[in-house]
Amino acid sequence: MVKKDYYEILGVKKTDSSETIKKSYKKLALKYHPDKAGDDKKKKYEESFKEINEAYSTLSDPEKRKKYDSGESGFSQGSPFSQGSGFEGGDLSDILRDLFRNGSFGSQFSDDDSTSGQDLRYQLEIEFGEAVFGVEKELSINKDIFCESCKGDGSEDKKFEKCDKCGGHGAVKMSQRTPFGLISRTIRCDKCDGVGKTAENKCKRCHGAGILSGKDKVKVKIPAGIDDSQTLRVRHGGNAIKNGAEGDLFLVIRVRPHKIFKREGFDVYMDLPISFAQAALGADISILTLSSEEIKIKIDKGTESGSILRLKGRGIPYLNHPNRRGDQFVNIVVKTPKKLSKSQVKLFEELAKLD
Ligand SMILES: [Zn+2]
Ligand SMILES: [Zn+2]
Repeated sequence: MVKKDYYEILGVKKTDSSETIKKSYKKLALKYHPDKAGDDKKKKYEESFKEINEAYSTLSDPEKRKKYDSGESGFSQGSPFSQGSGFEGGDLSDILRDLFRNGSFGSQFSDDDSTSGQDLRYQLEIEFGEAVFGVEKELSINKDIFCESCKGDGSEDKKFEKCDKCGGHGAVKMSQRTPFGLISRTIRCDKCDGVGKTAENKCKRCHGAGILSGKDKVKVKIPAGIDDSQTLRVRHGGNAIKNGAEGDLFLVIRVRPHKIFKREGFDVYMDLPISFAQAALGADISILTLSSEEIKIKIDKGTESGSILRLKGRGIPYLNHPNRRGDQFVNIVVKTPKKLSKSQVKLFEELAKLD
C-alpha cells in the first residue's frame, strides 16, 4: 500500500506550523476548486481537491497529525467518504459548491445571511392602453415594515449592551463536520443579527423585533411600452428586516387583452371587417387607433380579404424610447353576406350574369 504524503500534497514541510499549513491549504483549495476547472479538467480538479481536503482534515487536527506523523495507519487508505463521516450519497460537485457558498474559504458570510429583508413579488394587472402609454399607480403592499417606535433596531431607549453570544463581533465561528473533515465557517450571529450589540430594553411596540407587519404605499411609474409578463423592480419595496435594509419589490405586469388590438412586439394588429361592395368598389373608412383618435383610411377598389394595410408609427412606443413607435397593421376581412334581401338577391343574380 502506497502511503500518501499529506505534507507533500499540501506543499508544506513536516516542521511547518498549523498556521502555515492552513494558509497553504486555502491557497490550494481555491486553486483546485472544481468550479474553476474547465470541463476537460473537472475530474482532475475534483481528485486533487479531494486529496487536499483529505490531507488537511488530518494535518489540521493536532491529534490526527500526531498519529499520522508517528506512522500509525488509518489515514493512508480510502477516501474520506468511506470513513464513516456520516455522509451518504449526493453529488460531489454539489457538496463542493455548497461548501464554497457557505464561505469556508475566506468569504465573510454566506449568501443567506444578507442584511436585506426578503424580496416580494406581486402581480399587477393593467389595461392595454395603460401599457401602451404608461401609467402611474399607487399600490398598497402588505409587508414587514420598520417599527415606527424603534426605527428597526428593536430598542426601547437606544441603550445597547455587547452581544454575549458573539462577544460583540457580530459573527460566530461554527465548526462543521464534512466529508473532507472539520471545516469551520464564520456566520452572522443570530442573537444580534450581526450588529454585535443587543438592546438593553426591548422596544415595547415590536417586542424587540424591529419590524411589524403593515402596509406600505408605493407609487409606481409604469413606463410606456411595457408588455405582458415583464417585471418592474421597486428598490426597497420589499420586506424590512431588523437592523438591515428593505428587500426589493418585483411587480410582474399583466396586461389585459384589448377587444380590438392585438400586440406583437411594438406593433399592433386589428381586423377590419368591410362589406363585399366596399371591397369591390373601394371606400374611405374610419378606424380606431391606439390613441383613441379615429382616422380615415382608404380601401382600394378590388381589395381582397386578408390584405394588410400598414399605418406607420401608430403602434406601441418602444420601452424607454417613447418617441419611437411600432406600426399599426389593419387586416381587411371581407364579409360575405349571409342574409340577403329580395332586391339584393336580384342584384347579385345580375352580377353573376355579367361574370
Ligand atoms: Zn420597535
Ligand atoms: Zn451577536
